[in-house]
Amino acid sequence: SLTVSERMSRVMPSATSAVLGLAARLREEGKNVISLGAGEPDFDTPLHIKEAAIRAIHDGQTKYTAIDGTTSLKQAIQRKFERDNALDYGLEQILVSVGAKHTLFNLCMGVLSAGDEAIIPAPAWVSYPDMVRVADGIPVSIMTGIDSDFKILPEQLEAAITKRTRLLFLNSPSNPSGSCYTRKELEALGAVLLRHPNVVVAADDIYEHIHWGAEPFCSLVTAVPELKNQVVTINGVSKCYAMTGWRIGYAGGPAEVIKAMKTIQSQCTSNPCSISQVAATAALDGDQTCIAEMNAAYKARSDYIVEALNGIPGFECRRGEGAFYAYPRVTGALEARGLKDDFELVELLLQEAVVVMVPGSPFGTPGYVRLSFACSIEDLQESVRRIRSVLA
Ligand code: PLP
Repeated sequence: SLTVSERMSRVMPSATSAVLGLAARLREEGKNVISLGAGEPDFDTPLHIKEAAIRAIHDGQTKYTAIDGTTSLKQAIQRKFERDNALDYGLEQILVSVGAKHTLFNLCMGVLSAGDEAIIPAPAWVSYPDMVRVADGIPVSIMTGIDSDFKILPEQLEAAITKRTRLLFLNSPSNPSGSCYTRKELEALGAVLLRHPNVVVAADDIYEHIHWGAEPFCSLVTAVPELKNQVVTINGVSKCYAMTGWRIGYAGGPAEVIKAMKTIQSQCTSNPCSISQVAATAALDGDQTCIAEMNAAYKARSDYIVEALNGIPGFECRRGEGAFYAYPRVTGALEARGLKDDFELVELLLQEAVVVMVPGSPFGTPGYVRLSFACSIEDLQESVRRIRSVLA
């Protein structure tokens, strides 16, 4: 038989695909499946963005562009960083990629050497550790939980950094917990990072605009400007403009790191889709009221679901400050039902409540489940009813 690379013994396919496969089967059987599994907005892409893309097709903007993105889009990104984050990046410090996932992948490939360590606070987005492994790096976890608001402390960070540490992932607001670091907390983490100038930080701000914390959102370099030469600030249009399918993400960072990422990209995808780049330019430069409208809907759903989940015996849920996920600790429910782990709870609720959620273990924190509230309030209410009756 044909063999695959040695690397493939370390890289896992998405751990959530098993649940989603089972959900698809139940749907085929005609079951009324409610999916709280997806990590994408339920809203449609705003009309003015779609129309810009349609015009781009008619205007013939359908050819290769510069590998790192068109100048128009990169200038719109400069304006966005200036407007929202008070950050000033030169055009050579910006790279446009095929979604923020691709941005993060380019970063791993661009900075990690074999055996380098990448610190990933848990819980974290499931793709970080496997991207690190593809790049022959070693993921190192810092554990957090509901009792610490899912945030790492400066002393935990200091203790996790070794001579081999090359990368730190910091995602705020967080997938899956919804936690968001305050400016003060970023300053404290920044003080540690300034002592370790060889550590590059991936500041994953993809949920920046899905945020309702008491304090305004603050990006890491905004809080600690001296870190500018150490941080790659990552963002994209997928979540805030409901543009997941268009595949545009971007980064601002130190020119030499951006250059390495661009070289990797040049040998992989070349430029991101030309039409999507025009759409992203329209999104960033256009009317921003769509963001506030969607954000108000997410906040109302968060208010509902957090309270409802806390009313389910064995569930404890913290109110997040952003993103569109609730991340309850369910150890009480596991004990009450004699279940082994969060995978078993997810499977039970899929079979008996026909509600899809994602187990917490793949995010690095067993004993939790993730529910997406990028769906209607009615679906959330019905899910809660079903979960309650199964666990009653
Ligand atoms: N970062 C985080 C934390 C995410 O949750 C996601 C998407 O799920 C991404 C990055 C990537 O988004 P995209 O590749 O659509 O820009």
